[in-house]
Amino acid sequence: MKTFKGRFTQQESIPEEGIQRALEVLRSGRLHRYNVIEDEVSEVNLLESEFARYQGAKFCLACASGGYAMQVALTSFGLKHGEPVLTNAFTLSPVPGAICNAGGKPVLVETTDQLVIDLSDLEQKIESSGSRVLLLSHMRGHIADMDRMCQLLEKKGVQLIEDCAHTMGAAWGGKKSGSFGLAACFSTQTYKHINSGEGGFITTDDPELIARAIIRSGSYMLYDRHDASPEASYFTNIRLDTPNCSGRMDNLRAAILRPQLRILNENGRRWNERYRLIEEILSNAVGVTLPVRPHVEEYVGSSIQFLLMDMTEKQIKSVIRKCLDRGVELKWFGAPEPAGYTSRHDSWRYIESQTLPNTDRILSKMLDMRIPLTFSLDDCRLIGGIIMDCISEVRMN
Ligand SMILES: *Cc1c(COP(=O)(O)O)cnc(C)c1O
Repeated sequence: MKTFKGRFTQQESIPEEGIQRALEVLRSGRLHRYNVIEDEVSEVNLLESEFARYQGAKFCLACASGGYAMQVALTSFGLKHGEPVLTNAFTLSPVPGAICNAGGKPVLVETTDQLVIDLSDLEQKIESSGSRVLLLSHMRGHIADMDRMCQLLEKKGVQLIEDCAHTMGAAWGGKKSGSFGLAACFSTQTYKHINSGEGGFITTDDPELIARAIIRSGSYMLYDRHDASPEASYFTNIRLDTPNCSGRMDNLRAAILRPQLRILNENGRRWNERYRLIEEILSNAVGVTLPVRPHVEEYVGSSIQFLLMDMTEKQIKSVIRKCLDRGVELKWFGAPEPAGYTSRHDSWRYIESQTLPNTDRILSKMLDMRIPLTFSLDDCRLIGGIIMDCISEVRMN
């Protein structure tokens, strides 16, 4: 019986060009984004312009993390203390965390069996909460019907902020994920699509929102050193009205991100090759349900999810154990106790507890697996085969 020897947490190394540039930054000693000489343009400033261009956004702020980006986007939108913020019930804890840290109250919206936000529950919760804003988490890269979503939000006068931690490089109907609403937030943490250890971005076309975000991030009166930003007049009042909460990106991280941005689309293609190979294998297993990915959804398959709808909790746990024995790490959002990066909405005790039967039912049947690019296509074939074997063994018993 074959086991898999690879590591599910091993990403690729930083491109050589990024390592060289990082060494230059280190030798210069000018790591702080505002520490420039003569006509020098800092790595962070360059990265912001490049990422804005990539996204087709007018403005961009690079910052300390994806969680920081969401928190600052919400405060810069003008969220008031205690105000309700709609978000997905199926997401990771930085999302409700950002809402709470921005002074908001998360209102969780149900999940469909396609693993996206449920638009009819969203409509109901817009009514019942009176919320002005949705922080939409494209969790695990699954994109809801953005045409219907935007129609609904427009009809109800609700603003959209996108959490694109898992959709950097993805699109819906040819339009980049992150370009559908008022603002979008991205993460450059190691397990996302570009890797600087920690880091994040806010993109928007709204000059006031980005001016508030820039001042809040700790620009002091140096906001004119931002190229992907609006003209100085937008800062005149905002600079004195916005409390500082330092969360800048530094030149070292920007230096290693810039060459990664240039290969992001190519890496998206490589992720999807791996995703589709595993998807194809699992689609032949009895009792495995895979999300149907609509034609207009141009996803980046950096992880895969599948459901074992007719298995009991005991059987699912047994599949996870057998896979792990053969080197394949599956995550389960159904566990009552939070583990690793994974926790369920009822573990977020800092928010008001909410009843979400559909989300609970789906998460109790769903398994989740990372697909790092260090896995070869042969690795993916082996992994798919192991999962198949383990599922059928459990079914036989
Ligand atoms: C990782 C992640 C974030 C933000 O992550 P940081 O670690 O703060 O950069 C936001 N949303 C989701 C769904 C994530 O997985």
